[in-house]
Amino acid sequence: MTTTASDRRSKVAVIAGAGPAGLTAALELLRRSDISPMVFEADYQVGGISKTINYRGNRMDLGGHRFFSKSDWVMRWWQDILPVAEGQTSPEGPLRIHYQGQSHSLTPAALGVPSSDAVMLVRQRLSRIFYRRRFFDYPLTLNASTVKNLGLVEALQIGLSYGQAQLKWRPPEATLEDFFVNRFGSRLYRTFFKDYTEKVWGVPCSEISAEWGAQRIKGLSVAKAVGHALTSPFRSSADALQKRTETSLIERFLYPKFGPGQMWEEVSRRIAQRGGRIHLRNRVVGVERDGNKVAAAMVLDEATGLTQRVPCDYFISTMPVRDLVAFLEPADLKIRQIAEQLPYRDFMTVGLLLRRMRATAASQHAQLGNGMPPDNWIYIQEPDVRIGRLQIFNNWSPALVADPGTIWLGLEYFCSAGDDLWAMDNARFIDYAAGELEKIGLIDRKDVIDGTLVRVPKAYPAYFGAYNQFEQLRTYLDRFSNLYCVGRNGMHRYNNQDHSMLTANSAVDSILNGGSDKLDIWRTNAEGEYHEEIIEPAKANTATGFAL
Ligand SMILES: Cc1cc2nc3c(=O)[nH]c(=O)nc-3n(C[C@H](O)[C@H](O)[C@H](O)COP(=O)(O)OP(=O)(O)OC[C@H]3O[C@@H](n4cnc5c(N)ncnc54)[C@H](O)[C@@H]3O)c2cc1C
Repeated sequence: MTTTASDRRSKVAVIAGAGPAGLTAALELLRRSDISPMVFEADYQVGGISKTINYRGNRMDLGGHRFFSKSDWVMRWWQDILPVAEGQTSPEGPLRIHYQGQSHSLTPAALGVPSSDAVMLVRQRLSRIFYRRRFFDYPLTLNASTVKNLGLVEALQIGLSYGQAQLKWRPPEATLEDFFVNRFGSRLYRTFFKDYTEKVWGVPCSEISAEWGAQRIKGLSVAKAVGHALTSPFRSSADALQKRTETSLIERFLYPKFGPGQMWEEVSRRIAQRGGRIHLRNRVVGVERDGNKVAAAMVLDEATGLTQRVPCDYFISTMPVRDLVAFLEPADLKIRQIAEQLPYRDFMTVGLLLRRMRATAASQHAQLGNGMPPDNWIYIQEPDVRIGRLQIFNNWSPALVADPGTIWLGLEYFCSAGDDLWAMDNARFIDYAAGELEKIGLIDRKDVIDGTLVRVPKAYPAYFGAYNQFEQLRTYLDRFSNLYCVGRNGMHRYNNQDHSMLTANSAVDSILNGGSDKLDIWRTNAEGEYHEEIIEPAKANTATGFAL
């Protein structure tokens, strides 16, 4: 065996998982230290949940991954890997993009890159709610179209119930139901949030911790929205100014031309160029301890069936906390039990290729020739179907679709591994999913050309059940001085890509500082600083709380 530059490096960091967290940790170690990262990835490709699946030339994003972060560090990091494509930028000067109440100027160095495939596009967000066979704005907006869709009586009842909730706040705010009702009133909660959120998590909102809401949903003021709606007829002189403001505030995010996996494939190339190693189809199946240190990882090569012992100086884990704790074999039975009972929600997504959609699908917005709605994604609120969300991949990036004359959809289902949906045979499931879209009037099944199904286990670390004892697990894991738990399932935290990257970067900081302090890692995305939607008085929107 020949020795590479990485073999000569002094210390080894074993990294379990080549998702955004694992790959960020590997690249940062290579950039900032002489520690040699060895990444072991159970899957046959990199990217974790943020990978892109290539199905017969059509690329599927498992969930629709927006690239936007409130962290400048993350925004610059992404643009360093994949610059923003030429032609996506504003001729008037630096382009600012705005998302979820935050905005960023795109870095000048990243702009005007000659046309290349290794680029990111600037996308404008459009997503709506499909409910009662009609489209509602997302975030929910108090406007004439919403009132018309709901009916005046229902709209008034929603307003009344909101007023009641404001007069009588539910203390203590323990559950997600309390969180929603306090902020929206029980009627709006029951109309728009309850069914969808329960579809997503598979348990009643009254059993989910209020922490989920605090972490994901911005505080809002329905009162401001009502006030805005009531005074809008008298604000004509301010309208032009407001329109300009709104145009500049249109939500935009970055998106790799070939889907999120392109980012992580490119990062993998950079890691390899610097001598780092990523071993695909290599699953960490055990961890060897030496007192309060991780001494080695046991790694199963899925291709050969052989398990090897890989000694390490540092162990960075992005694998599910449940698995890691099982591998550490804690003496304390209580710790084992909490880890075993940590809840997850699984996810299935059907890629469906179509000739056309029913024209009604695009109603309320300019219709495209083949009936394709203009949205990036649509929340399906209809109670008579189990589909949760619909992605229109053409609108994320035309490059995701092999034939521009076709429509490439992602039909998303939230489920639990082993339930009736999960257990369904692939071909049957694809047919079932297409049938649901037909039932709610969005497609005719005869227009389906092809389909595929992807199962994503543990897509969502959930905040109920044993999660309320998570602190005990954290204390236990933090005892291992050279063990760093990062990422989404690695921390059992509802992290987006940027949070996963920030936790990985914090772990690298901690390693390089020679300390075993993990506080900064756990602090990321823990104080509710990341929120899906806000009320924007200029737009008089109310937030819907189920963006995922
Ligand atoms: C439906 C959906 C929509 C989303 N939308 C967005 C969005 O718009 N924007 C955004 O930024 N984020 C979004 N996310 C979140 C994003 O997907 C995650 O934050 C990100 O992928 C987490 O990165 P990670 O590296 O922490 O974990 P993962 O992506 O889960 O990667 C972990 C990796 O570890 C591997 N692994 C697990 N166990 C082992 C083992 N024992 N040995 C070796 N390897 C192992 C897994 O195979 C996986 O590749 C979305 C997620 C979902 C489910």
